[in-house]
Amino acid sequence: MHKKEVFLNHIEIFKNYVNSAEKLSVDQFLFTFDDGGISNLKSAKILEENELKGLYFITTNRIGTKGFLSENDILKLHQSGHQIGSHSHTHPMIFRSLTFDQMLDEWKTSKAILEEILGEEITHCSVPGGDVDEKTYETASAAGFKYVFDSEPIPETRFFNETEIFGRFSIKVQMSDAEFIKTLGLENLSALQRKRKMKSTIKKMISPIHQYIQNKKYES
Ligand SMILES: [Zn+2]
Repeated sequence: MHKKEVFLNHIEIFKNYVNSAEKLSVDQFLFTFDDGGISNLKSAKILEENELKGLYFITTNRIGTKGFLSENDILKLHQSGHQIGSHSHTHPMIFRSLTFDQMLDEWKTSKAILEEILGEEITHCSVPGGDVDEKTYETASAAGFKYVFDSEPIPETRFFNETEIFGRFSIKVQMSDAEFIKTLGLENLSALQRKRKMKSTIKKMISPIHQYIQNKKYES
């Protein structure tokens, strides 16, 4: 299947899943995209056609270079209702190998560039490469980010000081429909419902699940 069709299929399954589940709404899920590649425009269009919004994390030193979004593209995404966050300035492959000061500089530089483009505060960031350590969260928090997204498939959010940390579930093109539905939490949900173990509502259990659709994996 063409990658765009895979994405469309996932969106379809997602909408059906949310509509069929009790006390669930699309607002409880986030579709996030890392890196700031040009294909973000395509995924954004598909999301818009389905009345969904994306959260796009931009590697700021790539802005306007070949294959990446321009300042104008980022502005356009934002004006279309999508959220913009930082994916660091230079996308170091092993982020946790940086010193504290290098990390802080990556976050601060990227945040300032995006704020200059959009004229508003940038509060979200995602960690390049996905590998994290304590100072990754510490520096993101010190740079002023309120929400940090890593690639740990953890449904509950965590905190570092005032900064909230979100895990993400990676969705791959080669995933079967069944695997995708499992990622959405359907299996867990029914199991929990059956056991009636949890005192919290379904909404509470499912709300921190964030969907991570890696932009490049859907590129055509
Ligand atoms: Zn990345």
